Amino acid sequence: MERDGNGWVECALGHRHWGLHGAAGLLLHTVDADGSLRVLLQHRAEWCHHGGTWGLPGGARDSQETVQEAALREAVEETALDAEQVRLRHTCVDDHGGWSYTTVYADSFARLATVPNEESAALEWVDADRVSSLPLHPGFGHTWPSVQLVPLTLVIDAANVVGATPDGWWKDRAGATERLATEVASTVARPLDDAAVRGVVTSVRVVVEGAAREANLPPAVTAVRAPGSGDDAVVATVADLQGRPGELVVVTSDRELRDRVAAASTNHAKIRGARWLLDILDAPERQA
Ligand SMILES: [Zn+2]
Repeated sequence: MERDGNGWVECALGHRHWGLHGAAGLLLHTVDADGSLRVLLQHRAEWCHHGGTWGLPGGARDSQETVQEAALREAVEETALDAEQVRLRHTCVDDHGGWSYTTVYADSFARLATVPNEESAALEWVDADRVSSLPLHPGFGHTWPSVQLVPLTLVIDAANVVGATPDGWWKDRAGATERLATEVASTVARPLDDAAVRGVVTSVRVVVEGAAREANLPPAVTAVRAPGSGDDAVVATVADLQGRPGELVVVTSDRELRDRVAAASTNHAKIRGARWLLDILDAPERQA
């Protein structure tokens, strides 16, 4: 049955909502070349319910589709974006009882081209920092504080992470570092759904030392080529990044270095071990 989700429903909290089987919205974002985090928002046409406000593309879920399918289908209808360019990620459910709204995280390599349909006055890739200053659709305004995207800067102790996988790295440290950096580059724009680290990777610093210092790193990451001790370069990088918007995540399993990072970080950088990063790199690209 096609489009059997259209209709109004009253939730257990006494609100009136659109979507007999709940509704879903696509929280599609990307990271610009300058590191700024952009979210695709729809400025709703005046004739719509809550016209003139800003919200996520999305709408009612049909009974036979997943929330991810619903969010993507509705977003394609409203924006004409190329679904092939969208990487679907995890979800966040706001359950009212009898009706729920699911935010579907998704990212793309770049700002995708869009064409507004009749429900949209405009579609815009808005700087994530600016979202809360806009007149938001009440539903989106309610969920944004809990789903909002925090920019994450990763600082990676490459020698330590490379050394955590026994794949023959000791025969070719520069090559192993290049492979790691290439995989890490793929995390840019990825939303992380970790109990302790929530946000979107917007910037990556890869600290390389010794035989790996001349490694050829992809342009999506920033190489920090340690003139001497890699540990000193990690600590100096953390000190440099203090006061930047968003959160800093330092990846090393080196206990002594972790203590030095904690001491150098006035913004309370989060410190994660090599395994944390390797698990992220192993995670499936598309979750549905
Ligand atoms: Zn409700």
